[in-house]
Amino acid sequence: MSDTSTLKIEDTNDNYASCAVEIGSFKVTAIHDGYFELPISFIAQPKGDLGLDTESTFHLDVNAFLVQSATHNLLIDAGSGGKMGPNVNRLVPNLAKNGLTPADIDFILCTHIHPDHTNGLINTDNTPIFNNAQIFVHQTEIDYWLTDKQYALAPADLRCVYDWAREAFAPYAGRTEAFTQGLILPGIEALPLFGHTPGHSGFQIDGGGNKQLIIWGDAVHRIAIQSRDPDISAQADVNQDDARASRRALFDRVATDDVLVTGMHMSFPSFGRLRRKGVGYDYFAEH
Ligand SMILES: [Zn+2]
Ligand SMILES: [Zn+2]
Repeated sequence: MSDTSTLKIEDTNDNYASCAVEIGSFKVTAIHDGYFELPISFIAQPKGDLGLDTESTFHLDVNAFLVQSATHNLLIDAGSGGKMGPNVNRLVPNLAKNGLTPADIDFILCTHIHPDHTNGLINTDNTPIFNNAQIFVHQTEIDYWLTDKQYALAPADLRCVYDWAREAFAPYAGRTEAFTQGLILPGIEALPLFGHTPGHSGFQIDGGGNKQLIIWGDAVHRIAIQSRDPDISAQADVNQDDARASRRALFDRVATDDVLVTGMHMSFPSFGRLRRKGVGYDYFAEH
């Protein structure tokens, strides 16, 4: 179980700029980067007719997470940056509301290389934003998004995603470290959640004294729908079958162990828990 102490900072445009929870020795703060307005078919498509209004849209929040220990300021994901429209790119101003500038960030752990998670590493002129940070990303993500071989294989309509990935990581070439699994930094462990992208990873924060949080990245895009049926995927899931298998195993584990969870596309800030219900789960938001 986690502590329940929270601190919310009002943002007149966003409802909230950030929300913090204490996980043992870590303070974890959800930082709102903004949102996208997407067609409901982004979620419903793989399972056909879910009885939803197919003309409707939904609001997909984009979150990053600031993890602070006594000695370090670490970000998990870097938001969408300035190339993805007017409703995102609020990470840096919302960090400032927590008293931090990009120069204060020591480490950035990337769940995966999708533009809403890594375009925020750079300014619109492709210069780096985080001048003191070391970047960690799964080896398979590097192989899939950043190599010339994969770029040559990319379909034409996805080339811009690969271009963005290469632009985002180019300034960090000398300070990007690949991981495969296990402990990345003291108390922070990578969890393989492959499928959304080939090396997509969550992160488990262990703050000591049995205080845990799992940040599940893009394993979930619409919790109200996917908790009831974890087999429902998203169009953005690169390998739908692997994404389903990862989500099922993840949900089983966090419900069994009663672990506090959150993710990059939970309605901001939404730290919560899953409890089994029928063939699926109910999600209970705590913050
Ligand atoms: Zn993604
Ligand atoms: Zn995403």
